[in-house]
Amino acid sequence: MSLKDILNKWVINKVWINYKNVNDLFNIPSSTPSPTIKKSNIDSDLNINPNSNNLDETFIIWYINDIILNAMQLDASDIHIEPTENILKVRFRVDWNFIKYKEFPKTDKESFIARIKIMAYLRIDEHRLPQDWKINYKLFAWKSSDLRVSIIPTIYWEKCVIRILKKDSKPPQLKELWIQPYNMVKIKKHIRDSYGMILAVWPTWSGKSTTLFSLLSQFNAEENNISTLEDPVEYRIPWVNHTQINPAINFSFANWLRSLLRQDPDIIMVWEIRDEETAKLAVEASITWHIVFSTLHTNSAVHTIQRLVNLWIDPLLITSSLRIIVSQRLWRRLCPICKEKYTPDSWKKQYILWKIWKYIKNKDNFSLYRANENWCDKCNNTWYKWRVWFFELLEITDSIEELILKQVNKNDIEKQAIKDWMFPILEDALIKVFLWETSIEEVLYVIWN
Ligand SMILES: [Zn+2]
Repeated sequence: MSLKDILNKWVINKVWINYKNVNDLFNIPSSTPSPTIKKSNIDSDLNINPNSNNLDETFIIWYINDIILNAMQLDASDIHIEPTENILKVRFRVDWNFIKYKEFPKTDKESFIARIKIMAYLRIDEHRLPQDWKINYKLFAWKSSDLRVSIIPTIYWEKCVIRILKKDSKPPQLKELWIQPYNMVKIKKHIRDSYGMILAVWPTWSGKSTTLFSLLSQFNAEENNISTLEDPVEYRIPWVNHTQINPAINFSFANWLRSLLRQDPDIIMVWEIRDEETAKLAVEASITWHIVFSTLHTNSAVHTIQRLVNLWIDPLLITSSLRIIVSQRLWRRLCPICKEKYTPDSWKKQYILWKIWKYIKNKDNFSLYRANENWCDKCNNTWYKWRVWFFELLEITDSIEELILKQVNKNDIEKQAIKDWMFPILEDALIKVFLWETSIEEVLYVIWN
């Protein structure tokens, strides 16, 4: 057996090991026949060409597959392949934080990026312009995953970010998002309205689509025409018309929305209000007997009103259209296996009591949970597993409407909102610390960064 044969055999076996693990990940029903190991039977992008004369090429393909499969196993949302001055770095974003995966010699950068470009049908000879496209990555015959590839030139070479889209996944139920009763009441109340706009806002990447889709799945899609404009499509709900916005075809977001409104929709989900035209159309639609869900990029619930005014929406239209603003952040949730109970020291106690004393019954003696930083297989020694959402819900009450019409500053709106039972996001977070979902260290880390 030649060296090449030995190496190829090793590569095939190695791919097979990953392939099996991926199989475990996706809960394939037991009735599904398990795949035969014979490589010719696997209709998959994981296949490498064992007859290839070019060993380097074989290895690059294997490395890229290995990166993608490991990212999926760790439940990463994004893969970052970054050339630096001396090395090629590969990092994953898992539960919002980066974990270092591997480093490669900087000489690999060209072949790595070229391979990804081939997978995504991008131009390999284009090094000056950013490029992006979607790949349907075939794991095996009956299972595939959508990846969104984005490439941008940097001073050291092209940098690549691959977003892993979980296309088969259903959005979680509202109750799975840890929405506390004080917020759930407001959501349930306004979801019954026959028209109006519900906005989800966030300061950084915070899983806003998950909340929106959980809200959307509250409606009966067979009895309503629910249509969405998305970029990218992440969840698929039966009977919902998901439209993927195609940035390549030079058709603006507002034009997409205009076309969608001619489709007799009842409930519309507009991925993001980015410009004045889209904002106006969305607001108009929401006061003409449509329910509109959308997102805006702002720092807090109260900020959103200012942002809409800056997009030249008349305050009178804002008050007739807006129902609730859901501001949210995503924190890491403590690993349920390795978290440890402890009695907090006095400053932590005081801090918590200072913020949320009115909700705590037993103020003298309470315990919290924290990461214990021991070896744990369940969370790969990250001590956090999955995420927990923290919310701040601003309901447009009569008194808030009055303040919007008077165009008062956001501090006054915030004060009134708290009087009207808005729980500021930090309070919601600390209540969840108190309920042992996450650690106070994690909350303070996110607040102070
Ligand atoms: Zn753990």
